[in-house]
Amino acid sequence: MKLLSVIVPCYNEEENVPYFYDEFCKNTAFLKEKDIEFEILYIDDGSQDNTVPEVRALHEKDERVHLVSFSRNFGKEAAMYAGLEKSRGDYVVIMDADLQDPPYLLEEMFRYLDEGYDSVATRRVSRKGEPPVRSFFARCFYRMMRHISKTEIMDGARDYRLMTRQMVNAILEMKEYNRFTKGIYGWVGFQTKWLEFENVERVKGETKWSFWKLLLYSLEGITAFSTVPLSIASVMGVLFCLLAFILIIFIVVRTAIFGDPVSGWPSLVCIISLISGVQLFCMGIIGQYLAKTYMEVKKRPIYLTKEEL
Ligand code: UDP
Ligand code: MG
Repeated sequence: MKLLSVIVPCYNEEENVPYFYDEFCKNTAFLKEKDIEFEILYIDDGSQDNTVPEVRALHEKDERVHLVSFSRNFGKEAAMYAGLEKSRGDYVVIMDADLQDPPYLLEEMFRYLDEGYDSVATRRVSRKGEPPVRSFFARCFYRMMRHISKTEIMDGARDYRLMTRQMVNAILEMKEYNRFTKGIYGWVGFQTKWLEFENVERVKGETKWSFWKLLLYSLEGITAFSTVPLSIASVMGVLFCLLAFILIIFIVVRTAIFGDPVSGWPSLVCIISLISGVQLFCMGIIGQYLAKTYMEVKKRPIYLTKEEL
C-alpha cells in the first residue's frame, strides 16, 4: 500500500480547514481504486485565529489528519518546507487551504505520474479575480526572470504540485534559508508535466499576500536564482568609463582650439548627481546579495515548531 501526503500550509484559515478536509475527501475515490492511502498535514504558519483548534478537532475525528504548528509566522515557503520534511508519503502534493488548487485535478495528475513523470505541476492560465496591477507586475516579473535566470520559472505556476518521493528528497537537500520554491523546482530538474487550469477564486477568507509582501518575495526570487543584477554594476561601470573617455578628448580638443572660458558648472552638477545615483543603485544591488549571504551564513532554522500531532 502506497501513501500520499497532502501538505496544506495554513495561515489564519479557520474557515477553510474543515472545508478543505471535506472537499478533499470527496475526491479520494480514485485513490482507493489505486490502493493509495492518504494523510493530510496541516502546517499552521503561526495563525492567530482558530486554525489550530480546528485542525485538532479534525485530528480527533480522523487520525489521518496531522498538525505541525509553528511558533510564529514564518511564511508559506517555510510551511511548505516543513510539510515536505514531515511528510512520509511515497507521493507528496502541496495544496492551498483556500481550495484555489482544485482537488479534482489530482486524478489526472496521478495518471501522468503513472506514465513516468516525476512530478505534475499546475499553472493557471488566467488571473481572473485578481487586481490588474498585481497581474501586470506578476507578468513583468516572470518575463524578466526568463531572461535573467538560467533556471526555468513558469509564468502563473502555482505551488500545487504532485511529486514522487525521489523529487521531494531532492528538494529537501536544498536547505537554503532564502527559499523560492518555484525556482527550486526548476533547479532540481526531473520530468515535469504541466497542467493548466482557469484561476479559481478563494472560497473563504482573504488573501494573505499584500502587494508589498509579493514585491519582497519577487526580490527573493531574483536574488536567489540570478546573478545578472550583479553584472549590471560592471557593465554600467564600463559604459561610464567609455563615456568619460570620449568627453575628455572632446574637452581637451575644444580647449586647445577655443580657449577656456570658465562656465558650465550646472552641467557638472547634473553629471555628478547622475553618476552618484548610478553608484548608489549598484551598491544597493550588491547590498541585496550581501544581505542574503548574511542571512544564509547564520544558518538559522527555516522554521520552529510549537506543536505536532
Ligand atoms: N500562507 C501561509 N503563510 C503565509 C501566507 C500564506 O502558510 O504567510 C498560506 C495560506 O494559508 C494559503 C496559501 O499559503 O493556504 C496561499 O495563500 P493565499 O491564498 O493568501 O495566496 P494567494 O492564493 O492569494 O496567492
Ligand atoms: Mg489563495
